[in-house]
Amino acid sequence: DEPDDYRARVEAADLPEKVREAALKEVDKLERSSDQSPEGSWIRTWLDTVLELPWNERTEDAYDIQGAKAVLDADHAGLEDVKERITEYLAVRKRRADRGLGIVGGRRGGAVLALVGPPGVGKTSLGESVARAMGRKFVRVALGGVRDEAEIRGHRRTYVGALPGRVVRAIKEAGSMNPVVLLDEIDKVGSDFRGDPAAALLEVLDPAQNHTFRDHYLEVELDLSDVVFLATANVLEAIPEALLDRMELVRLDGYTEDEKVTIARDHLLPRQLERAGLEPGEVTVADEALRKLAGEYTREAGVRTLERSIARLLRKVAAQHELGERELPFTVDVAELRPLIGRPHHTPESAQDPAERRTAVPGVATGLAVTGAGGDVLFVEASLADPETGGAGLNLTGQLGDVMKESARIALSFLRSHGAELELPVGDLKERGVHLHVPAGAVPKDGPSAGVTMTTALASLLSGRQVRPDVAMTGEVSLTGRVLPIGGVKQKLLAAHRAGVTTVIIPKRNEPDLDDVPAEVLDKLDVHPVSDVRRVLELAL
Ligand code: ATP
Ligand code: MG
Repeated sequence: DEPDDYRARVEAADLPEKVREAALKEVDKLERSSDQSPEGSWIRTWLDTVLELPWNERTEDAYDIQGAKAVLDADHAGLEDVKERITEYLAVRKRRADRGLGIVGGRRGGAVLALVGPPGVGKTSLGESVARAMGRKFVRVALGGVRDEAEIRGHRRTYVGALPGRVVRAIKEAGSMNPVVLLDEIDKVGSDFRGDPAAALLEVLDPAQNHTFRDHYLEVELDLSDVVFLATANVLEAIPEALLDRMELVRLDGYTEDEKVTIARDHLLPRQLERAGLEPGEVTVADEALRKLAGEYTREAGVRTLERSIARLLRKVAAQHELGERELPFTVDVAELRPLIGRPHHTPESAQDPAERRTAVPGVATGLAVTGAGGDVLFVEASLADPETGGAGLNLTGQLGDVMKESARIALSFLRSHGAELELPVGDLKERGVHLHVPAGAVPKDGPSAGVTMTTALASLLSGRQVRPDVAMTGEVSLTGRVLPIGGVKQKLLAAHRAGVTTVIIPKRNEPDLDDVPAEVLDKLDVHPVSDVRRVLELAL
C-alpha cells in the first residue's frame, strides 16, 4: 500500500472527528517514515484497525417487546422465570430509550445481567437469544483463563506484536457499535502480575465510564455505552466482588427430568437431526427413550451430555441406513437404546444390589452438595483407627476446605459430648483416632453444609447401624446440635432426584426455599425439614 492510500481512506471513512484527527496524525507520521521501517508497519496495522471499526454503525433495535418475548419463548423451553426477567430488562431498556434516558448504572444498577448456573443449562444460548430478540448483532467474548489485563484493554503500541484488547475486537467482529456482547465465563477471570483483568472489565461495564473507553492499543476513545453486556458464570462465589456489584444475577439451577425430555424433543433432537443429515420425521425418538437417556445415560444439571447422546444415537442410525441395515422412517424406543448406544452408565443407588451400595457398611452417609457442575450427591465415610497402631485425633482427607474441616471437628465434638444420651459407645471416640474421608478425593470441597452428613456417618459407625440408602441430607450443625440453614436447596434437591434418592433431610429454616423446587421433583421426594441433628439421626439410622 502507498502511504497516501491511507490518507484518502481516512478522509473517505465515516469517522468521529477526534478519531479522524488522530488517524491523520498517524498518516503524517507514516508519510515521514521510510517504507521498510518497523514503525511504518505498526502505523499501518493501527490504521487498519481504526478503519475497520464500525464507528458510526448502529443496528436498529427491534423495539417490540411482544416480539422479543416470542423469540425467547421459541428458542428455549421452560426457564419461565429467566425469560420473564430478561423480558423485564428489555422492556425497561426500551421505555428509558423512548424517553431519551440512559441505562441505569451504578452499583447494583442492573445494567448487566449475569446468567449464573451449571454447565449446559443454556446460559450462552440465552445470550444469543437476547441478541436475536433485540435485533442486534451478537458477539461472545470467552474470558475463561484470561489473566492479563492487556487481554481486555490491549497492549500499548510500543509493545512488539501489540493488539487491541478483546472488547475492541468484539466491536470489530460485530460490525456495529451496539451489539450484545456476552462476557462468557466471567467467573474464570484470574489475575496475576500482569495486572487485574477484572478492574479493566469494571470500567467496560460502568455506564459512567464506558462511553469513553480507552484501549491501550487504540488510544482513541471508544463509546461502549450502547453495547448490551451480558455475563455468564458457573460459580457465583468465583466472580470478583467488584464485578458482582455491577451485575444483576439471574440464576439457572438445572432441569428436572420432565423439562429435559421437553427440551430434547423440541430443541435438541431437531437440531441434531439436521447435523446428522436426517430429515425431520425420518427418525423419531420416543419420549420414554429420551427420559431414559436423560436419567440413566447422563447425570447432569444441564442438557449438554444429553445432546451429545442424542447426536451419537442419530449418527448410528444414519450410518445403519447408509449401510442398508436400517429402513427409515424409524422410531427409537426404549428397547432400541441398548443395541444402538450400549448400556446406561448411571443406575440409581437404590436400584443397585444392596451389597453394592455405598451405604452398605456402617459409617457411610449420603450428603448433597453444590459444585461448579451443579448439585451432586456426595458420600462421607468414617472409620476408627486401630487403637494399637492408629494415632489419636482426627484425620481428614478428600481435599476439604477449612470450613468443611471445621464441620468435621464440630461433628466429632458434638458426638463426644452428646453420644451417651444418644446411646452411642462414645468411649471409642475418646480412645481411638477418627478418619473422615469425602470421595472423590481429587475434587476440592468446602462449605458447612456437610455437617449433618458427617455427624450421621460418625453416629452410624459408632452404632454399627447402616445409614438408610434412600436418604440424603444437607445442613450445617452447631456444637449444640442445631441444624442451621444452607444454600443451594433447589440444585441439591434436583441432584437428589437425579441420583434416585427418595428421602431428603434439610434444615427447617430452609423450608421456604422449597417454593423454588419444581413440583415434579417435590412430589417424588419425601422432604424432612429438621432443626436438630438428633432428629437427623432418628430419620437416617
Ligand atoms: P456452560 O456453562 O458449559 O458454558 P451453558 O449454560 O452456556 O453451559 P449452553 O451451551 O447455552 O450451556 O447450552 C447447551 C445446549 O443446550 C445448547 O445447545 C442449548 O441451546 C441447549 N439448551 C439448554 N437449555 C435449553 C432450553 N431450556 N431450551 C432449549 N435448548 C436448551
Ligand atoms: Mg456457555
